[in-house]
Amino acid sequence: MTELLVATTNEGKFAEVRAFLKSLPLAIVSLRNLSSWPAVVEDGATFEENALKKARALAEYSGMLTLADDSGLEVAALNGAPGIYSARYAGEEGNDDKNNEKLLRELQGIAEGKRSARFVCALALCAPPRCGLKEWTVRESCEGRIAFELRGQNGFGYDPLFFYPPFGKTFGEIDRETKATVSHRGKALKKLAEMLPCLVDLYTKP
Ligand code: IMP
Repeated sequence: MTELLVATTNEGKFAEVRAFLKSLPLAIVSLRNLSSWPAVVEDGATFEENALKKARALAEYSGMLTLADDSGLEVAALNGAPGIYSARYAGEEGNDDKNNEKLLRELQGIAEGKRSARFVCALALCAPPRCGLKEWTVRESCEGRIAFELRGQNGFGYDPLFFYPPFGKTFGEIDRETKATVSHRGKALKKLAEMLPCLVDLYTKP
């Protein structure tokens, strides 16, 4: 079976990707299944550039078909911040709790109608060097707004602050399967999963 390396150490992202692709004839491997891997500096100007950089570097290193995700939150009232810096919004030593605290602080006094935000996800798929490092990207987003307080224990990252109006709940209050039907990552994975059988076929041919 063709192996697909998912180039992330973020357990939340990996769980979402694995759950989504589980019906495809692929052995899904995490970075944590490798004994070591090269650090990739995410210095691209866009989600796509960063996702491609990670996918290329890890496909080259592992020799496996590699999928990388670069994603984040864009908040209108903050001119699109934290954007590509979402993971390190509260600093290099930050974490999800600190990022969420900072976001609430930055939006203090901003009324509900001005708290629109969107999650963005770029996925890059890269075939390894022996297949010519062919690469593909997809991008999707999901519109919502930032809540006034954390709600729910599910998901990861900014999920407890991301209020999704059609459900009347934050992503922290819904389960993984429900989130995947509407989320930026779910929609990008759906696009990719539709393309994958052709790509994998392509990839396995000599
Ligand atoms: P990356 O590893 O540079 O792509 O970091 C993405 C960051 O964006 C994560 O650490 C989260 O803070 C945030 N993020 C991306 N997708 C989601 C999501 O589905 N839910 C919550 N936060 C997310």
